[in-house]
Amino acid sequence: MNKRDFLKFCSAAVTSRVLAPLAAWASSEKLKNWAGNVEYSTENLYAAQSLDQVREFVKKQSSMKVLGTRHCFNKIADSTQQFLSLKEMDKVVALDTEARTVTIESGLTYGRLCPYLDSKGWAVHNLASLPHISVAGACATATHGSGEKNGNLATAVSGIEIVNAAGEVVQLSRQKNRQEFLGAVVGLGALGVTTKLTLDVQPSFQMQQYVYENLPLSELKEHFDGIESAAYSVSLFTDWQKPRINEVWLKCRMDQSPKFDAPAEFYGAKKAARNLHPIVELSAENCTEQMGVPGPWYERLPHFRMGFTPSAGKELQAEYFVPRHNAVEAILAVQRIGDQIGPHLMITEIRAIAADELWMSPCYKQPCVTIHFTLKQDWPAVSKLLPVIEKELAPFRPRPHWGKLFSIPPSQLHSVYEKLPEFMALRKKFDPQGQFRNEFLNANIFGAVS
Ligand SMILES: Cc1cc2nc3c(=O)[nH]c(=O)nc-3n(C[C@H](O)[C@H](O)[C@H](O)COP(=O)(O)OP(=O)(O)OC[C@H]3O[C@@H](n4cnc5c(N)ncnc54)[C@H](O)[C@@H]3O)c2cc1C
Repeated sequence: MNKRDFLKFCSAAVTSRVLAPLAAWASSEKLKNWAGNVEYSTENLYAAQSLDQVREFVKKQSSMKVLGTRHCFNKIADSTQQFLSLKEMDKVVALDTEARTVTIESGLTYGRLCPYLDSKGWAVHNLASLPHISVAGACATATHGSGEKNGNLATAVSGIEIVNAAGEVVQLSRQKNRQEFLGAVVGLGALGVTTKLTLDVQPSFQMQQYVYENLPLSELKEHFDGIESAAYSVSLFTDWQKPRINEVWLKCRMDQSPKFDAPAEFYGAKKAARNLHPIVELSAENCTEQMGVPGPWYERLPHFRMGFTPSAGKELQAEYFVPRHNAVEAILAVQRIGDQIGPHLMITEIRAIAADELWMSPCYKQPCVTIHFTLKQDWPAVSKLLPVIEKELAPFRPRPHWGKLFSIPPSQLHSVYEKLPEFMALRKKFDPQGQFRNEFLNANIFGAVS
């Protein structure tokens, strides 16, 4: 089932007054994720329109998962029994300008939230490379953008409403029940159904985006901190084929001080003379405006524009977080195996993310740099390549992105998440029978633990 059919079926379901089963697909195509590399294990998909419908549905299930916008590359969202879609629960509940927060229903995407916020004079602090994803799915997996002072997208959450396995509505907030809140925000879909989120907002701001080409690796080695601090958000794109970074994307706030004055050369890289795609051969039509053209935050922070296919489309993705203080060493380690990566790679992106306090965030108490791989959709080859990359990064105790592909064994994962025991206890409290667990969570996190 392609994306258009999926959305059509969801809309059809919510026109009925009761929860409507969508098992009888008219299409013979299977329900898949965005990239098409994961075929979900069931096509039983229910769409809810209200909190009461969510509660009613949850109480009847013994095993289920919420399906967001299906942008994960692994099976974290998979279910063998039932899916629940909150796509139609996508309203802005309240914009509180005094408290500087917005409360939303969790089916909302950033693509719809951001123009609304901007029209009211507000903004969120950061966005991922694409706006197409649901806020709830993004926060559940610690999705991030870039910027050394910017936490991942989940760090904007100040309140969360969850329907637990008993069908009870639990409200947690940064102020009132801080410990459970810190455990629940990056909840990996394991605690229940997130029905509402409250996000911090700030006054809307304008940005300019500049791209530079061919930054020598020697400059990166010497001036990594200077490069990362040059703009609000910095992305480094490389194919590892030469000792250089192919493209440096600098996203500058126009209220940034000191202002980025966009010199012709940036640490040896040359200012691009036209808009570029991170994969230079692809058309920049899908990309957000560059060349220093001023524009609103939500049309500069993502790389890809709403209404266009983000990234390359037919691809696989993997991404590893390493401690910021190991960034240069880790980049050089991957550069050394560039020849092995090259044949399978479309592009790598390197980003910086601030530390946070969310238990299952890869940036828990640790500022990080991420090394991301957009790979050709050839799983047999990629499945052999990932352990090679992971071996090179092993000295830096890498944490994989929860929504992307990896082969790091569970024992290693457990050793880098110091709050995992507390998260397991929280999961047991919210979901004693494991209704929201699936094969991915059992294999990577919960193991045989009941
Ligand atoms: C082209 C592309 C570009 C990307 N760029 C970035 C990037 O720049 N940065 C980055 O960090 N990641 C990026 N990603 C990864 C992606 O954004 C995340 O993995 C994110 O989880 C996607 O959200 P989703 O709603 O599509 O998740 P889904 O795959 O639908 O679900 C993810 C998890 O969230 C859970 N979930 C979703 N909604 C709820 C809910 N309401 N209640 C409880 N659990 C819920 C699901 O059960 C599942 O466990 C990219 C992915 C693609 C395809």
